[in-house]
Amino acid sequence: MPTTALTDRLDASAREFVLAPHRLLIGAAAVEAADGRTLASLDPSSGAEIATVPLAGRHDVDRAVAAARDALETGPWQRMPAAERARLIAALADAVEDHSDELAEIESLDNGKPVKLAKVVDVADTVAYLRYFSGWPTKIEGGVLPVAAERMLCYTRMEPVGVCGQIVPWNFPLLMAAWKVAPALAAGCTVVLKPAEQTPLSALRLGELALEVGFPPGVLNVLTGDGSTGAELVEHPGVDKIGFTGSTAVGRQVGAKASGALKRVTLELGGKSANIILPDADVEAAVKGAYQAIYFNSGQACNAGSRLYVPAQIFDEVLAALVDRASQARLGPGLDPATQLGPLISAEQQERVMRCVRQGEAEGAHLLAGGGPALTESGGWFFSPTLFAVEDDELAVSREEIFGPVLVASAYEELEEVVRRANSTPYGLAAGVWTRDLSAAHRLAQMLKAGTVYVNRWGASDPAAPFGGVKSSGVGREHGWLGLQAHLEAKTVWVAL
Ligand code: NAD
Ligand code: MN
Repeated sequence: MPTTALTDRLDASAREFVLAPHRLLIGAAAVEAADGRTLASLDPSSGAEIATVPLAGRHDVDRAVAAARDALETGPWQRMPAAERARLIAALADAVEDHSDELAEIESLDNGKPVKLAKVVDVADTVAYLRYFSGWPTKIEGGVLPVAAERMLCYTRMEPVGVCGQIVPWNFPLLMAAWKVAPALAAGCTVVLKPAEQTPLSALRLGELALEVGFPPGVLNVLTGDGSTGAELVEHPGVDKIGFTGSTAVGRQVGAKASGALKRVTLELGGKSANIILPDADVEAAVKGAYQAIYFNSGQACNAGSRLYVPAQIFDEVLAALVDRASQARLGPGLDPATQLGPLISAEQQERVMRCVRQGEAEGAHLLAGGGPALTESGGWFFSPTLFAVEDDELAVSREEIFGPVLVASAYEELEEVVRRANSTPYGLAAGVWTRDLSAAHRLAQMLKAGTVYVNRWGASDPAAPFGGVKSSGVGREHGWLGLQAHLEAKTVWVAL
């Protein structure tokens, strides 16, 4: 049961939601899992249980997919004018905005992240995202095609791809849900959303708000559950498209299954992104940027700048500045307004990060800051911001995604060398460059193999700007027109006149 101390720290609306019984959202109904199974969501800052949610199984996936299919093919959704679809998505944006404080608290409690970060990043970006995609329904156009045949009209219709199974991770629970749901709804699809087992609460609240603002039942269904629920969704023959964000290992399986069934699939996976400081960079800005790039969200970001390349002549200066910043970081529970770095998501994640750090030390990486759990007396899964210096890129800490607050820094001599080293990874999500040299910036932007290159600003993001990975970091792009297009199918119509 939730402890009084925990929920005392929440405002009334968040407390009411967290303490209420939680149900799957299928069509218009809020239901238990058919087989009655549940899972507990924990507070990463204390390890305490916050809430119990249903653990959806095959039968529930069946029901949710049927509700989504029904809404797609027979309900008001498919007859609805695009402008009305736009209005509903905009209304959901407004509802999320009206519940900003509540959602930020729910997110902070369930995920552990600082409540301020939850509000200005997760919730605010969710609102911006929904609002951006609310602009698209009325702009989805086919074309009339200049075919050679005489007395022939040939045109395309851009139609919704169908029922979308969407599986999201725990690092930005509400925002990742919005990244999936918004383009699907804009395209006229219907959705079965599966939040991560560690952070099920904000997706349930989003689903409730969607019903409250008037989305027809079945358009957005929310199934809480674990990996087995996700696997059922991927394998369900009634699902037309899978959208997945999570680990590369699971993404590979999801992609293989979806492709085998010839479902549409987009995957946003892991990374080991390189952040490169050039010799002429504004060192202060680069240090600040490099710090944020890795320690933001306690390192639990797919696009974390986890490999730092520094010119040999300023290596010691840059690393000393990073050690200084890391030593001043204020770790604490997400709901404490003074907290800068929250805990890791789970005991497993803390152990995983610890294993990676031990392996780094054993393999000869030089530990300059952090290196272990913090605030252990709190019962939470905190980890000190950790910094390694390494000579080359051969160690596991330089190659594997850690998904925690662990930065691996290395000195380099030549531009060609650093580009080669930055690219020598199976991943390709993001890369960063810090320089005042315009031509070097653009040359590197071209040479780096990544879905996104940040110049003098790590982590810039906008609903209009495509995001996604090359190589093992994923398939497809989210955001903008490309993100919408992934939820549309072109139908070509030939009319002999
Ligand atoms: P995960 O890939 O196991 O989980 C992500 C989502 O997929 C969750 O909703 C989960 O329930 C679901 N899932 C798990 N197994 C599934 C399956 N077989 N079929 C369908 N869905 C399934 O990630 P995790 O275990 O939470 O974290 C492990 C590692 O993944 C992290 O340490 C990190 O390296 C990486 N990760 C990456 C991201 C990202 O944003 N790219 C996010 C979270 C985790
Ligand atoms: Mn949780």
